[in-house]
Amino acid sequence: MAKQPMLKFVTVERDMPTKRDADVRNKDFDEIYAEYATAKAEEQASRCSQCGVPYCQSHCPLHNNIPDWLRLTATGRLEEAYNVSQATNTFPEICGRICPQDRLCEGNCVIEQSGHGTVTIGSVEKYITDTAWEKGWVQPVQPNSERSESVGIIGAGPGGLAAADRLRRAGVQVTVYDRYDRAGGLLTYGIPGFKLEKDVVMRRIDQLEQGGVTFKMNCTVGEDISFADIRAAHDAVIIATGVYKTRDLSGPGSDAAGIVRAIDYLTCSNRLSFGDTVAEFESGELNAAGKKVVVIGGGDTAMDCVRTAVRQGAESVKCLYRRDRANMPGSQRETQNAEEEGVVFEWLAAPKGFEGNPVSGVQVQRMRLGQPDASGRQSPEVIEGADYLEDADLVIKALGFEPEDLPTLWGEPELEVTRWGTVKAEFTTGATAMDGVYAIGDIVRGASLVVWAIKDGRDCADAIVDRFNNTAAVAAE
Ligand SMILES: Cc1cc2nc3c(=O)[nH]c(=O)nc-3n(C[C@H](O)[C@H](O)[C@H](O)COP(=O)(O)OP(=O)(O)OC[C@H]3O[C@@H](n4cnc5c(N)ncnc54)[C@H](O)[C@@H]3O)c2cc1C
Ligand code: SF4
Repeated sequence: MAKQPMLKFVTVERDMPTKRDADVRNKDFDEIYAEYATAKAEEQASRCSQCGVPYCQSHCPLHNNIPDWLRLTATGRLEEAYNVSQATNTFPEICGRICPQDRLCEGNCVIEQSGHGTVTIGSVEKYITDTAWEKGWVQPVQPNSERSESVGIIGAGPGGLAAADRLRRAGVQVTVYDRYDRAGGLLTYGIPGFKLEKDVVMRRIDQLEQGGVTFKMNCTVGEDISFADIRAAHDAVIIATGVYKTRDLSGPGSDAAGIVRAIDYLTCSNRLSFGDTVAEFESGELNAAGKKVVVIGGGDTAMDCVRTAVRQGAESVKCLYRRDRANMPGSQRETQNAEEEGVVFEWLAAPKGFEGNPVSGVQVQRMRLGQPDASGRQSPEVIEGADYLEDADLVIKALGFEPEDLPTLWGEPELEVTRWGTVKAEFTTGATAMDGVYAIGDIVRGASLVVWAIKDGRDCADAIVDRFNNTAAVAAE
């Protein structure tokens, strides 16, 4: 078993200033930071070779025009860079912060491929749009003219919000329904504030409201309002509800107190950062302070849990994953960040059962990787006789999410779903088999990425506007 190093808080922020020059010593921090950030962004942007085969662009789900905004940034033309960047991306500063760039744009930069280190595309994108906010270039949507058609969007996550923004730009009337009290979906209550500051999300919600989007919060479709009523109230409906059903653990003791769901743990922590009082935190149930925390899972949600537990002052934090490091689904960059903060990873380790109620330990079985399964991934197999007990007084289940059963919950058997329970929709437009009903984001793709939800929202909105235009043209004939 690996020894637990001291937990420490490491701020890992690329492109932060690392030193102060003599000639700027007398200025205050913000000003110094701004100068370094500009210099760094320009320096990074000027490293782009304008290679002419922009793999970065083709590997960005939004096909952002990266070489163009890098060229404009390199020459100090930031407002133009912002205009190019926001033309394809509704939330560039959010993607700049939380896209797994190593798997997308940056991982495919030709400079990276030639071994000289990628242009830090995400950081430059974040910098351009943060500057645009500071300078007042980001303004609420003002459509050239209003249209009479309305769209109801179920779900205020990045998919629903991107669609809302794009539809308002075309003058469509938009109402967003969401069961939470705050909009943003997983941007608000899933992803921790140390990766994505909450004011960065909230200023976008304000901007959308000021641009004419109506939000109906604390409104659970299927309980407070029926899907049929929403359909009847609008010319089109977009389902953007994400996936929230937690994959569960089995084994003796798995229902003991102290074994909690990742989504509850992260939502609680995010609520605290808004200043909310959360009873489960006050009672200690969702508070890692002073505890031996074991997180089960190897994806990005698990990484967010371990890093949140470190910040809450856990005594120790361990992560159990049944495959090895090379086969984990989470980002390598985040895993490294977690290790630097003192999190210990137990690779090839899976829970077999739990001791105590409240939980006091996890019975762990050692695994090895066997033959590849139908998907080509090597299946984990138990090594008999190698079990051990891992002390734990808080166990967080981070095994992934599945879609809720929408046809049943909403009494809509016509709503077609795949065998995984995701809503069946065309990937390019979001159109489902139900007339005027579209679906986007995680509820179609399964647990995915913010940037894909934004792409779906953008493309679906364009398809709906095309449909409205065609209907209007036919009516005018
Ligand atoms: C912990 C965690 C960390 C993540 N980190 C990253 C990351 O770093 N980078 C990244 O790219 N992706 C990350 N992801 C994935 C990313 O957050 C999702 O892919 C993305 O948010 C999906 O967007 P969405 O709009 O489809 O759904 P969501 O963001 O899930 O939003 C769905 C919304 O629908 C609402 N809703 C659901 N059902 C109903 C109903 N019946 N009635 C009314 N409203 C309803 C919900 O309240 C929610 O607000 C992370 C996910 C998790 C769980
Ligand atoms: S949206 Fe994401 S993938 Fe696309 S350029 Fe920005 S950081 Fe890279």
